[in-house]
Amino acid sequence: MHDRNDPAALHALAALRAAHKRYGARPALCGVDLALAPGQLHALLGPNGAGKTTAIGLLLGLLRPDGGRAELFGADPQQLAPRRRIGVMLQTGALSETLRVGELLRQTAGYYPRPLALAETARMAGIADLLARPYGKLSGGQQRRVQFALAICGRPELLFLDEPTVGLDIEARQALWATIRALVAEGCGVLLTTHYLEEAEALADRVTVLAQGRVLAAGTVAEIRARTQRTRIRCRSALAPEVLRDWDGVLDAAFEDGLLSLGVREPEPVLRRLLAADATLSALEVRRAGLAEAFTELTREAA
Ligand code: ATP
Repeated sequence: MHDRNDPAALHALAALRAAHKRYGARPALCGVDLALAPGQLHALLGPNGAGKTTAIGLLLGLLRPDGGRAELFGADPQQLAPRRRIGVMLQTGALSETLRVGELLRQTAGYYPRPLALAETARMAGIADLLARPYGKLSGGQQRRVQFALAICGRPELLFLDEPTVGLDIEARQALWATIRALVAEGCGVLLTTHYLEEAEALADRVTVLAQGRVLAAGTVAEIRARTQRTRIRCRSALAPEVLRDWDGVLDAAFEDGLLSLGVREPEPVLRRLLAADATLSALEVRRAGLAEAFTELTREAA
């Protein structure tokens, strides 16, 4: 599925073209297209086992496709030259526990032709106070920030971030988001996988939703959200959800936290009818469905 509105498909930093991958008899990716562009953050979403890690593995040259192609800067991802232009933060990564953070950074930066100054990397990742500490003695969240520093220290043109904010507190997460935004604004391309949909919503220019090894939806956050075209109405009301479920245009109805919650396609007719049917109705709130709701619905339909 090539998206003609997607400039990344034409000028890609990295791409999967009809990529297939199976583990033994088990298919993990079945004809996946994905293109990453400069200055864009592309969120790769999907439930557990959807194929996200496999897709990243193909783009990084850690895995070989069984069919189709994986390209990194137009070349084979297993070549050294394109790999020197990327930064990678995976969920697993064995780092020396005994080396100090500054030593780890110097070592990794040495692998790149034009690395950032160590102090600059440390500032961007919020680890200036950790440089003298042995990596193994850091907390989980601190280690995650060091891993991010290692991913950006080579001034990458393309950054792979696999669940980067797992284990980070709110402040550290916000700081990381700000740095990611700044890198994207400078032209860096980013592939982000996350199970935090608000993270994708806050950062992503484009979203690809995978399920069972196939692309379920691809587009901007707004386009994905529009795929479900659902608006949520919440209010305090004496009306019963089981009655409302039979109304025209009501997709779902339930009590949530003491409030009536309705999913609707077109809010106006339902709102008029609600207000007419219940003179005591209060605390009314109407909003378009967010990415989380669109995502839940898309993956539920696929299942
Ligand atoms: P998660 O969100 O849980 O990290 P994911 O979207 O990254 O999931 P993958 O790890 O790519 O999913 O897995 C896709 C499918 O391939 C799953 O069915 C998984 O069980 C299978 N799989 C992944 N790695 C292997 C492997 N090394 N050997 C056999 N099967 C594998």
